[in-house]
Amino acid sequence: MTDVLILGAGYAGIRAAKMLAKYAPAGTNVTLIDKNVVHQEKTQLHEIAAGTMPVDKITFNIRDVLPKSINFVQAEVSKVNVEDKTVDFTDHDTMPYDYVLIALGFRSEDFGLPGAAENALPLEDVATAQNIYETIEAHVANFAKSKDHKDLTIIVAGAGFTGIELLGELTHTVPALQKKYNTPDIKVVSMEMATRILPMFDESLAEYAMNYLEDNGIDMMTGTKITKIEPNAVVYADGDSEKRIYGNTIIWTVGVSGSKVISDSGFEQRRDRVMVTEHLNLADHPEVFLAGDDSAVMDPSTDRPYPTTAQISTKQGDVAGKNIAAAISGQALTPFTYEAVGTVASLGGKDGIAQVGGKQRKYRGFMAKILKKAVVDKSLLDDANLSTMLKKGRLPL
Ligand code: NAD
Repeated sequence: MTDVLILGAGYAGIRAAKMLAKYAPAGTNVTLIDKNVVHQEKTQLHEIAAGTMPVDKITFNIRDVLPKSINFVQAEVSKVNVEDKTVDFTDHDTMPYDYVLIALGFRSEDFGLPGAAENALPLEDVATAQNIYETIEAHVANFAKSKDHKDLTIIVAGAGFTGIELLGELTHTVPALQKKYNTPDIKVVSMEMATRILPMFDESLAEYAMNYLEDNGIDMMTGTKITKIEPNAVVYADGDSEKRIYGNTIIWTVGVSGSKVISDSGFEQRRDRVMVTEHLNLADHPEVFLAGDDSAVMDPSTDRPYPTTAQISTKQGDVAGKNIAAAISGQALTPFTYEAVGTVASLGGKDGIAQVGGKQRKYRGFMAKILKKAVVDKSLLDDANLSTMLKKGRLPL
């Protein structure tokens, strides 16, 4: 019997489990392990954080979508012992493996910025996303008693992909809350260090996004380096002095790193991402595979690691699953390659920007939003199955 452990039922882990069910030879015992019994479609967490999407639309029971030959264990991984070929847990006995795939996903990274961990709200899973919406609403509701305008100020720190998509959703949340609690204007402030947002998009599309958000009432501050987070204020550098934006809801979308399990296990890593071979395993421990946000794979066309996106994680899960099956069967492994079909960002429910195809055709407005929906639906279809999609009321286009 060959024991395969897949750690994490995110985009990469679920795909790898499906591939192993299909390609692993008889006598392979595959176990998928996750601390939760539900999978979360994390590309849509910003919608939970803004209160524009119910949680059950982006979660599904892992067991419901797993092939019958795959075991599922609910447990929290604490350490991978590469030399012993075992995995430790906080709440389960140690498990041995012949092959392991580490796909434990990302966590919010505070970069050690003073006060960030204590005073800003991270966005990394359904629980933290729900906490953001509940905090926004609690402060808005409290304004009736406090008459403190900090209760009506939401600050989004960092305007990367996540920050921008969250701001897009907040353009819907803010008027709805203002009406519900009959408050004066609610202020939303975006604070971004770079002078230009969304560098992965053509300048005209980034400008479209910037104008769209400003026209919808967001105060977009660029070239603003955050230096500290205080309980009710974000401090930023202004030349040699510092300035503050005051607000009671401070949301942290300044970046992510891989799972803490990576550094806790002693892997050579950078921001908890481990450099792997083109086959997605370690050169000196070929039985250890990594995929998704815990891995770094060189893109030969740019000489830089591939970015961290759900599409890339899904594709890596496919390749890692097939390669583990091939390794068990003594066959040659397949290198990971990825050709980006495009980049799409949503700006709330009806708008977005997209750059797709070899010619990088540009779309803005509702057409881009439709493209985003197609990407998200395709992802759900890949991770789950058609019956899960239909149950969630999410018809494929
Ligand atoms: P990010 O690293 O992409 O963006 C963080 C932003 O915070 C950057 O614009 C950075 O300049 C800014 N920042 C950093 N330090 C700062 C400081 N001190 N003061 C002010 N601003 C500061 O992180 P993210 O948006 O959380 O995204 C994480 C990963 O997930 C990225 O790789 C992203 O591409 C990916 N992602 C992809 C999609 C998609 O493909 N649709 C959606 C969301 C996230």
